[in-house]
Amino acid sequence: MHRVVPLLCAAVDHLVPVARGRANEATNLRTTCAPCNTRKADFLLEEIGMTDRSDEIASGWDGLTGSYRQLWESQRDEEGKLLD
Ligand SMILES: [Zn+2]
Repeated sequence: MHRVVPLLCAAVDHLVPVARGRANEATNLRTTCAPCNTRKADFLLEEIGMTDRSDEIASGWDGLTGSYRQLWESQRDEEGKLLD
C-alpha cells in the first residue's frame, strides 16, 4: 500500500478509548480521519484540545459509523476480539 493511502482513509475512533475501559458501543464510536485518530490515541478529546462535533452534523447522518460498526462486529467475537 502506498504511504499516502492511510492518511486519506477514514477511521473509527472511540470517544473514550478502549484502553480506558469503554468498549465498542455505538455511542462511543466516531468517524475520523486517520491522522486525527492517530493524534488522539488513548487520550480523551478534552485532554488534547479536540472537540466532538458529531452533534453539528445533520440529523440522520452518522458519518458512516453505522457501516463501520457492522463491519467491525462482523469481524469480532462477543468480547470484541478480532476473529481469525
Ligand atoms: Zn482529521
